[in-house]
Amino acid sequence: MFEALSGKLNGVFDRLRRRGALSEADVSEALREVRIALLEADVALPVVKDLVNKVRERAVGQEVLRSVSPAQQVVKIVNDCLVEALGGGEGVEHVPGLNLNAAAPVAILMVGLQGSGKTTTSGKIALRLRARDKKKVLLASLDVHRPAAQLQLETLAKQAGVASLPIIQGQGPLEIARRAMQVARGELYDVVILDTAGRLSIDEALMDEVAEVKAATRPHESLLVVDAMTGQDAVNTARIFNERVGLTGIVMTRVDGDARGGAALSMRAVTGAPIKLLGAGEKLDALEDFHPDRIAGRILGMGDIVSLVERAAETIDKAEAEKLAAKMQKGQFDLEDYAAQLRQIGKMGSLSGILGMLPGIGKMKAQLESANLDNSILKRQAAIIGSMTPKERRNPDILKASRKKRIAAGSGTTVQDVNRLLKQFDDMSAMMKRMSKLGQKGLMRGGLG
Ligand code: GDP
Repeated sequence: MFEALSGKLNGVFDRLRRRGALSEADVSEALREVRIALLEADVALPVVKDLVNKVRERAVGQEVLRSVSPAQQVVKIVNDCLVEALGGGEGVEHVPGLNLNAAAPVAILMVGLQGSGKTTTSGKIALRLRARDKKKVLLASLDVHRPAAQLQLETLAKQAGVASLPIIQGQGPLEIARRAMQVARGELYDVVILDTAGRLSIDEALMDEVAEVKAATRPHESLLVVDAMTGQDAVNTARIFNERVGLTGIVMTRVDGDARGGAALSMRAVTGAPIKLLGAGEKLDALEDFHPDRIAGRILGMGDIVSLVERAAETIDKAEAEKLAAKMQKGQFDLEDYAAQLRQIGKMGSLSGILGMLPGIGKMKAQLESANLDNSILKRQAAIIGSMTPKERRNPDILKASRKKRIAAGSGTTVQDVNRLLKQFDDMSAMMKRMSKLGQKGLMRGGLG
């Protein structure tokens, strides 16, 4: 569903990442492109404005993390803002899927326009509740307007392996709903799914009928089913249903199609109701929980950078990093510091995992893994440095054959291992000197703005 938006945003961030440093103009230009991409994806204008402003505000105030690039940090900020727009984020409780914590029988009221996928989604939910959650489920169609609707639900119930309420000709929606609840109580069903009638467009009669059924059955979940392909219309439908009936959640269907995705991003802000489930196909098992963070990740296609920045922000000790940077610039980086670096990398998780997160390195990762570049090497290196005297660590040049033998014995390694470490340390110091020269020219001071 998000291919086009995802492609556009990727383009924006690729251009951003090619810069060594970011100026305020770079960030502004990128945000302008983000704005256009969101509008083209059919995200509601007020939602776009709010999102872009939030990103700008946060980017300006951000401290620059040394271990990631400013462009990567911008990606992370955009990601966080997307997650929030989708109804997630820190401090927001988003319960994916349905909430069925109530005394049985729990009623789920399904509402929506005709053709939105309401009946199919009722079948999908029934299947999931039976197969995954081991619930005893009763499906009931309240659609007396469309002749085939009740039969359609009966067929779906059979496919899902659950019961459907026997059809009694001539009963109205309210009567059917009451009968469904009665049967459910009598026959000890856990869940009753009430599939209400849809109309081609929103009208008073539809709203009144839905509101009546809701009052009579007191459903624990009132779910609106909307077709993602209808874009802004889906958002308006949701707003009106929420105002008139009160929704506990939204199911967005046809996300397997080429909908532009904007509706998903506008839904929470415009309607206040959370998206809970996604319909991703015609088959009954094509139902997904809605996770704001995963969807944001899918939109950006840069989940790896986001987690890299998160872990860097969490684990890299800022004071230590500053000290190291200062030493690097003065050319005073020694084995003591190298050991500190190893500890930092260790804290961030496996080495190959970290490398795999860096853009462009994904392919090399397999090679690195086969070269056995893993945490056991980090540990071995830390052990070697641990067996050195402080003097040796500050002054690796004094390490001659006899000292190396002693260190190898002390750390349970070989002289070859010690030599390999020293070579790596030399390479790393050389690289750091180069990087710190670049860095002085490149990294912006004070913030991203
Ligand atoms: P209702 O009128 O709202 O009850 O809509 P239906 O459940 O009868 O669905 C209308 C059509 O949409 C059917 O052909 C379904 O197979 C199809 N449909 C429902 N959900 C999805 C979905 O998530 N993806 C796709 N591709 N088709 C769907």
